[in-house]
Parts: sequence; structure tokens; C-alpha cells
Amino acid sequence: MSDCAASEPVRLAERLNHVETSAIRELFKLLGKPGIISFAGGFPDAALFDVDGIREATLAALDSQAGAALQYGATEGLDALREQLAAFMAGKGARDVTATDLIVTTGSQQALDLIGKALISPGDKVIVEAPTFLATIQCFKLYGAELITVPVDDQGADVEALERLIAQHRPKFVYLIPTFGNPSGAQMSLERRRRVLELAVRTRTLVVEDDPYGDLYFDVPPPPSLLALSHEVPGGRACLVHCGSLSKVLSPGLRIGWMVAPPLLLAKATMCKQFSDAHTSTFAQATAAQYLASGRMPATLQRVRGIYAQRAAAMVQALQQTLGAAIDFVPPRGGLFVWARLTGAGGGPTDAVALAQRAIAHGVAFVPGAPFFARDPDVATLRLSFATVDEERIREGVRRLAAALHG
Ligand code: PMP
Repeated sequence: MSDCAASEPVRLAERLNHVETSAIRELFKLLGKPGIISFAGGFPDAALFDVDGIREATLAALDSQAGAALQYGATEGLDALREQLAAFMAGKGARDVTATDLIVTTGSQQALDLIGKALISPGDKVIVEAPTFLATIQCFKLYGAELITVPVDDQGADVEALERLIAQHRPKFVYLIPTFGNPSGAQMSLERRRRVLELAVRTRTLVVEDDPYGDLYFDVPPPPSLLALSHEVPGGRACLVHCGSLSKVLSPGLRIGWMVAPPLLLAKATMCKQFSDAHTSTFAQATAAQYLASGRMPATLQRVRGIYAQRAAAMVQALQQTLGAAIDFVPPRGGLFVWARLTGAGGGPTDAVALAQRAIAHGVAFVPGAPFFARDPDVATLRLSFATVDEERIREGVRRLAAALHG
């Protein structure tokens, strides 16, 4: 008798057993229902893309560097773009980063994958925030990481807890989203940023800073990134990886991200990338380089920040006025999300998954927070995105949420 399972043509790799398809994916299937107001997405608003600027940049790329834009390119990325990205970061305080300190990646998602591929052996421990970006959890688990979680409050990751966890687990690395984290929206304080860097240097621990949202502040710029602060701390740069992205500020469809990393990791990540996609689309890179060189970015950022700030304010006010004590959250200072917790006040629900289903019946969607925890999920949490909904619809969506909460 032949073994039926062994003779199946598709026999999946053992590593796939480490990840389940996301629970929220099921919920997303329901979002197509007509009339739903969705706070569930993680996307920037397509209506805010600088289409004219990108059109001009595309033409300029074809007019001035068609060969490079349409040909195979170096795995590290086009020099013109690497230089522009180094200058972009220098403008935010990371003055000692040069073009050769970074590689261009296909979105910062690929940087995370390359980090996982280059660093994680099955069973390695990695510390992530609770909560953290869902795709990072899945990606690191795919490489067999054992994820340890550090709590986050409104000042970002708890650095004292982080110190204890590093001493206890000796992780391969620590993954943080210090600025307007997805989903927490939290902004790590300057003091904690300095302490993270000192801790990294003192304990010889690699820290990965994922920073796709840092440019999307509402009023006051956030503290400098860990990368920008690292020159203050001797040995800081050797302990730091920084992932950046143009997705939230320019266009996710361009798939332009980058990573700054110590030379050994940068070289190995480049090697892994070579076997994966050879290089990020040269056409997209040349376009992005032209866009950054055009000088339009500051105005684009200012416009986008202003609109997200208004939407965030509308959502914060509506939640406070309409849901009152039933929900607890810290108003975000940037990014795309309000991260909230059901308090159960007045006998209201504390299970965000159950509420999400009821909310859809009432015509509003959000993402329950549980999947964003690598372990010990807090089922009372939820993530609400204000990014793609105008203010009137935000107020209506929150009214529907209240109806679901009380219904
Ligand atoms: N990191 C975080 C925290 C994110 O929220 C996202 C996008 N949702 C990414 C990385 C990946 O973004 P991209 O690949 O588009 O640069």
C-alpha cells in the first residue's frame, strides 16, 4: 500500500506549521458588503497620493535614465535612490548615514523578511512589542522564532521590562516600532529611546527599528529615530537596524523600502535578496529617486499630515463623546491608528472579536486587537484606522459602533 500523504504532489515545508493564516483575514472577507464604513484597513488614503508628482517623476525617470529604469540593476538598489534616501534620513537627523549604509528593499516588509532570513534559526528568541505589527509576527514565526513580548504603554515599550527580558532570554534581536506603532499608535519618549540604545550597546543586543510612520506626525515632530540618536551613543550604530518605507507617505504600490544595518547583516541581507527578487523594481526605484530629487516631498508630507491629523481628531472626539467610559485609549500623535480597549463599563462587552462581528451587522468594521499579540492576546483591544474615511463618515462610523456596543 502506498502512503497517500507521502505521495501527494504538494508536501509543504515544516516551517509553515509555525503560522496560521490570520484570523482577521476572515473578517476582511465581510468588508466588501455595500455601505460598510471601514476602520479596519491599514492602508493610506489613495486620494492623497501625489499623482501629478509621481507622473512627473515617472516621465523624468524615462527621459533621463531609461536604461537604468528598465534594465536589471544592482541588488543593493540604484545609487541615485540610495543617495536620495540617505539625504531624506539626514533631513530627519540621521546625518552620518551614507548611501552605502543602506539597501533598497521591496517595501519595508521585505526588509523584515530579509532580517528574519539572515538572523533567525529555528528556536531563536526574538523580543517584540505587545502588541506589534501582525505581518512581522507571522514573518519571524515562519523562520521558527520563539517570540517573547515586552509591554507597551503610551511612552512606547517598557524599557525596564525589556532589560529584564534581554537578561533572561538573550534574544537574537529586539524588534520595535518606536514611532506611532502599528497597531499601538504609541510614541516612544526621547528618554526611553536613549535608554534602548544604551541597553543595546551595554548588552550587545541588536535592535531593529521599524519606522514607516515617523513622518506622519500631527502637530509636533516625534523624537528623533533610534537611528538619528545612535551617533550620540558610542557603539550605537553597530547594534541597530533601521527599516524605512515610502509606502505611507508616497505610495505603497511603488514598493520602496530600505534598511540600514551593520555591514555584516547588510551584506547577508543583500545576498538573500539576490536569491529572492534580484533587486527591487528599477522602474519604481528610478521614479522614487526622481520624486525625492524633485523637492515635492516636504509639501506632500505637510498636506498628508494635515488631513490625517483632522481625521484623527474627528475620531478621537467622536469616540470620547459617543462611547465615553466604554472605551479607553490614548489619542495618537501621528500615524494611522487609534488603539483602544473595551473597558466593560456599564456592562458593555469586553470581547472585541464578538463586537467586530456585531459591528459589521451595524455597518462598521474594525480590527480586533488579539492577533497583534505574539502571545497572551488581550481580547478587549481593537484597532481603528481613520486614514481612509472622511470626517463625516468617521462620526457616522462611531455612531454605528456605539449602536453595536449597546445592541
Ligand atoms: N512595518 C509596519 C509597522 C507596517 O505597518 C507596515 C505596513 N503596514 C510595514 C512595515 C510594511 O510596509 P511596506 O512593505 O509597504 O513598506
